Amino acid sequence: MNYDAFFVNALGRLRDERRYRVFADLERMAGRFPHAIWHSPQGPREVVIWCSNDYLGMGQHPKVIGAMVETATRMGAGAGGTRNIAGTHHPLIELEREIADLHGKQSALVFTSGYVSNETGISTIAKLLPNCLILSDAYNHNSMIEGIRQAHCEKQIFRHNDLAHLEELLRTAGDRPKLIAFESLYSMDGDIAPINAICDLAERYGAMTYLDEVHAVGLYGPRGGGVAERDNAMHRIDVIEGTLGKSFGSLGGYIAANGALCDAVRSYAPGFIFTTALPPAVCAAAAAAIRHLKSSNWERERHQDRAARVKAVLTAAGLPVMATPTHIVPVMVSEPEKCKAASDLLLAEHSIYIQPINYPTVPKGTERLRITPSPYHDDALIDALAEALVDVWQQLGLPLARRPLAAE
Ligand code: PLP
Repeated sequence: MNYDAFFVNALGRLRDERRYRVFADLERMAGRFPHAIWHSPQGPREVVIWCSNDYLGMGQHPKVIGAMVETATRMGAGAGGTRNIAGTHHPLIELEREIADLHGKQSALVFTSGYVSNETGISTIAKLLPNCLILSDAYNHNSMIEGIRQAHCEKQIFRHNDLAHLEELLRTAGDRPKLIAFESLYSMDGDIAPINAICDLAERYGAMTYLDEVHAVGLYGPRGGGVAERDNAMHRIDVIEGTLGKSFGSLGGYIAANGALCDAVRSYAPGFIFTTALPPAVCAAAAAAIRHLKSSNWERERHQDRAARVKAVLTAAGLPVMATPTHIVPVMVSEPEKCKAASDLLLAEHSIYIQPINYPTVPKGTERLRITPSPYHDDALIDALAEALVDVWQQLGLPLARRPLAAE
């Protein structure tokens, strides 16, 4: 049996469907975000990153690096075990306290990633609820879908952010445990869930709520508690899930909820129990970022300012910017090959790195460049981005809106 042939064929299928992914080999430079070295096939080259999820550049913040280095020097590299077997170290406990406080919850549990927290968190919670029905937003992230799948209970999908559809499903579900799983900020379209209205429905029909705030924690709310904090809804959500790997610049994921729920997940979730805990230095770095962003608004304000400027400059240049109420700036290409070609040209000819977003991450026909401005993308970088995009659009024959002339 030629086992390798199966893998070669599988890769061929991806290439035929134009879904084969190529990763850029990057070397980030502390203190110079968003500049980085790209180890291209021709050798190393400096590029500007325009698609990082280190949304606020906290991965390079002196307090965060300082906490990481100091903790690693004092406590060493690894946690040394699973949470159950010698891996529950003090920086992890402090981090969980910091997170619980951020979300105004009794308790928090840290997992090795946001993905794992959704996968093992949702499946464990739903399994503990007898005859649970999960109501899931159609645009939920793959990690939530996997968690729902592994719960082995009934699920129904409501149309994205569609309150009438959700209510119809809740009404017909009747009197049984129900879990509504949704995100606060959907990262590909940059739109926001009607959190309070969903909580109204949950209260009316006796459902629990599970909210993924992965793309909003650190970025929204007076202390960075996310969109639920901004909308005064944190206390209405049963489980808030987040990541430490994006705006907090580190690694890991978490859920925050009441004490009994967290204790039950701690005790039953395989993805929590049977894996080595995050290293102390990683936890200390994440805690330093959360602590800083609870009191500093500079990053959040500058972040929104930069996103607004990017949208305005690109729109004025005639580029098809999708309107969003958030920091996400999708520029539509609507064609997989041209989307990949646009990304390649930006990197090769303009030293700008923006990963193409193709199916299955987004529906076919909605391929796009997903731009994520940070507080450190200055006006000159924004202007250079607009010029580069216009050049690439022209090279690929992509449509540009007519630019108003100054005299008009
Ligand atoms: N939830 C959403 C909505 C995401 O986009 C992601 C992507 O990374 C995750 C969860 C997973 O988080 P993490 O990167 O920390 O594993």
